[in-house]
Amino acid sequence: MLGTLIHDGFQLTGDPKKAEVVIINTCGFIEEAKQESINTILEHGTLKKNGSCRILIAAGCLAQRYQGDLLKELPELDGVVGTGEFGKIADICRDLLTQKKQHRRLWISKPPYLYDELTPRLRLGKQHSAYVKIAEGCNRNCTFCAIPIMRGRQRSRPVESIVDEAQRLASEGVKEINLISQDTVNYGVDLGVRYGLVTLLRALVQVKGLRWIRPFYLYPQQVTDELLDLYAAEEKIAKYIDMPLQHINDRMLKRMHRLGDRAAIETLVERIRTRIPGVAFRTGFIVGFPGETDAAFTELRDYVEQVEFDHVAVFLYSDEEDTPAADLDEKVERDVMEERRNAILSLQESIAVAKGRAKVGSILEVLVDGRSEESDLLLEGRHEGLAPEIDGVVCINKGSAVAGDLVKVEITDAAAYDLVGHIVA
Ligand code: SF4
Repeated sequence: MLGTLIHDGFQLTGDPKKAEVVIINTCGFIEEAKQESINTILEHGTLKKNGSCRILIAAGCLAQRYQGDLLKELPELDGVVGTGEFGKIADICRDLLTQKKQHRRLWISKPPYLYDELTPRLRLGKQHSAYVKIAEGCNRNCTFCAIPIMRGRQRSRPVESIVDEAQRLASEGVKEINLISQDTVNYGVDLGVRYGLVTLLRALVQVKGLRWIRPFYLYPQQVTDELLDLYAAEEKIAKYIDMPLQHINDRMLKRMHRLGDRAAIETLVERIRTRIPGVAFRTGFIVGFPGETDAAFTELRDYVEQVEFDHVAVFLYSDEEDTPAADLDEKVERDVMEERRNAILSLQESIAVAKGRAKVGSILEVLVDGRSEESDLLLEGRHEGLAPEIDGVVCINKGSAVAGDLVKVEITDAAAYDLVGHIVA
């Protein structure tokens, strides 16, 4: 949307008070995210009184999901733009700015929209690290998940389109591309591309200038030996697996309508670790899914303790309209869910500390992200086992480098999720 607006002649400001049009790109995935989106809309609604704001727009998944209801519930909104209409955002802003009364306020269609290599793009944040969406939508039926409702069935971008974009990004100085979609392991199935993700990765590793290619969101099924061997053999593919497992108890997995049971997951995790030596493993779990007994939760907690993942996210279950899980019985109280989340997170913190300490004394290749958020005197970067935004960082307290540099760092200390070290080369 930013690229389209700039291309169309709009000017951007980082200060919402100065903006005539404020667009809130919302999330509608789980209760906490929806609440955050609504709070952000309400907060920015006040800019109509004490800022320059003339038009307030909600775009994205919450907009797609609640459509006209959002306009009714949040009168400060002038427009609601669903996930199928992102490409029209500049026309929509102009329409809203020029029409005085009785204008259209709702832009919702089925979500076929998928950007391509020609779509104008403006990247905020790190200039040396970029997200690349390779597919949109999901064909699976996890009972808790509203994403297929908001994003539609899976459609993948052609390999050539993604490679074109990666080449352009590399020519702009990008060193790391993060491949995202809702179901990355299924990439290309809708295009009839055999072994889609393997085909795509084989093409992307040819792009000059990239250092790390990092696919996210691998469903724990259809993970072939070819894919794992490619990870192991190709140094441009980050040795980093992001695979949400959601649970480990068989009854829970079945009620969630996840493919595979505990035995299959255990075998897969073991296979990944054996075939990709040194791989960092990120996963995510849902606690408090309907029917999660104390015993089922204890099984999950014990599994986290036993497997020692590198990074673990824990989400609280929330009933989402029109998903099958909302109709399930045996709901879990919120305070029980919170206790369970805290139990896993504190366990994971001790695992992370031990894993960090084990790295002290090693020399790691680090991509420098820039000045540290903690202190201007420190630099901050990541080794290949740390993904941007969601994992820890390496704080660098000696040596000079600029954002985008790849340097060798000797690790001297570890604190919770972060490491500390100095540049040696
Ligand atoms: S695979 Fe992921 S996006 Fe697809 S339905 Fe399941 S949780 Fe949702």
